Amino acid sequence: FAITMDQLQLYEDLGKGNYGTVKKVLHKPTNVAMAMKEIRLELDQAKLNAIIMELDILHRAVAPEIVEFYGAFFIESCVYYCMEYMDAGSMDKLQAYGRDSPCTTPQAPPEDPMDTTQMPDPTSIQLTLPNPIFSGKRTGGVPEQVLARVVGSMVRGLKFLKDELQIMHRDVKPTNVLVNRRGEIKLCDFGVSGQLEKSLAKTNIGCQSYMAPERIRSESLNTSPTYTVSSDVWSLGLSTIEMALGHYPYPPETYSNVFAQLTAIVHGDPPQLPAEFSETARDWVARCMMKRPEDRATYKELLEHPFLVEDSRRQVDMPEWVARALEAKERASREKERMEVLGEKALS
Ligand code: ATP
Ligand code: MG
Repeated sequence: FAITMDQLQLYEDLGKGNYGTVKKVLHKPTNVAMAMKEIRLELDQAKLNAIIMELDILHRAVAPEIVEFYGAFFIESCVYYCMEYMDAGSMDKLQAYGRDSPCTTPQAPPEDPMDTTQMPDPTSIQLTLPNPIFSGKRTGGVPEQVLARVVGSMVRGLKFLKDELQIMHRDVKPTNVLVNRRGEIKLCDFGVSGQLEKSLAKTNIGCQSYMAPERIRSESLNTSPTYTVSSDVWSLGLSTIEMALGHYPYPPETYSNVFAQLTAIVHGDPPQLPAEFSETARDWVARCMMKRPEDRATYKELLEHPFLVEDSRRQVDMPEWVARALEAKERASREKERMEVLGEKALS
């Protein structure tokens, strides 16, 4: 069946990306909650039609590790893309809260934030939100057993795309790894439409690059793409390190601009998993983060590596971890709001 806009009841925004907004919606005829992505494109009808046709192969992308596609349509110059709603959001928003008590409060905040008699001296307030920026000491990141479960799902999803649909993902990163309260982990936003890809490329301005060195080289030279599926393996490795740390591995205070960051990716040593992770986990990541694409592990090798073999033999309570990470995230956002109110109070 085809989805149309008038069948949808619009709810809150779930997030914003480089190309548009994702909203929670209700598909009224079926009572199914969906996530609707709006992509603004300045294209003619023929090109928009081509995109909608190309997106159709997403109906064949049915696997436990792939976010389900419900349908796409366009209105004026916007493409609307409806997919399975994942109620715990993306890994980038959970990863910083994945460990126990990253948001402990050293000083009890006042009950009533407007009551100035109770207000602590703002200079003494320690912001206890998990610091997303690397400070030498890790504040967030997901525990190793959860990490193994997440990346195992990612590899199975990527292998499915390659083996069953003959496509590479092209945009592997934590914002495209979605999670739900049942503890399921699924990939979204893989490149199925050449036309869409082409139309987006012009506006591509990410400030955090997950691209493999050879892909950065190829894109900066503007040559025809020479990279292959092993470029996704690099992005997978980099995403794994990011989720382990709780922040992007090339920290902005060291690599103050995109150029410095890209130079580090192309010419520097590849980042590694921190020493507190097991040798097995570190080796698995290192197999993804080889500078030369031909040296990187294949999906089959990654699945057969002890890191993922051990994971498949282990019980991991993913729903419990997701619930706790969401709680910590909500606590942190309430605390941030309270701090903002206090800050405004202190300024006025
Ligand atoms: P980019 O624009 O580079 O792809 P992005 O992946 O963050 O970056 P979007 O794909 O537009 O941008 O998604 C924006 C946010 O919306 C995501 O970060 C995610 O948190 C949320 N989101 C996307 N799809 C879903 C979904 N199916 N269910 C729940 N939340 C979603
Ligand atoms: Mg995305």
